[in-house]
Amino acid sequence: MAEVTAYIAIGANLGQAQRSVQQAMQALGQLPLTQLLKCSSLYRTAPMASDPSQPTSATGPDYINAVAAIATGLTAPDLLLHLQALELAAGRERPYPDAPRTLDLDILLYGSAQMDSAQLVIPHPRMAQRAFVLVPLAEIAPALVSAAQLAAVAHQSIEKLLPSTS
Ligand code: ADP
Ligand code: MG
Repeated sequence: MAEVTAYIAIGANLGQAQRSVQQAMQALGQLPLTQLLKCSSLYRTAPMASDPSQPTSATGPDYINAVAAIATGLTAPDLLLHLQALELAAGRERPYPDAPRTLDLDILLYGSAQMDSAQLVIPHPRMAQRAFVLVPLAEIAPALVSAAQLAAVAHQSIEKLLPSTS
């Protein structure tokens, strides 16, 4: 079976956010046909609007963010379904865009695949604008993030919390 290396962005800003992120990392490794390869450190960041023209849409406590690398035999759409099930199990609700969330799991990269459907856009379209994605991704996969990309988000505040446990 062909295995693909995928990178998953993990974020939470409600409840026990650090615990949710750590549990999500372990849960990723327990998905069918999937192994956890690497986990970044945890980072603390301020809420950020997904649409920069609506900067006040993101509210709530600071986020805990991390990125995990997995090897998976799941297709990208199947992987997304499993990630959404983990979000639901963590109590995720979607009352409005950018609402605070107990757990957000986004597929950043799925091998070298490019896709653009109503459900799934890969590479994740907003990853290059987000320090909370690029900094942890660069920690575990430095070849995937350029110095210029990091420089472009250097004004966004991000604080490293705990050393990586794996
Ligand atoms: P956010 O953009 O804040 O992460 P949601 O987690 O509510 O918002 O996701 C909204 C939708 O984004 C999902 O229903 C999913 O179908 C879609 N989506 C598109 N591309 C991706 C991706 N690469 N990873 C995760 N979800 C994606
Ligand atoms: Mg999401």
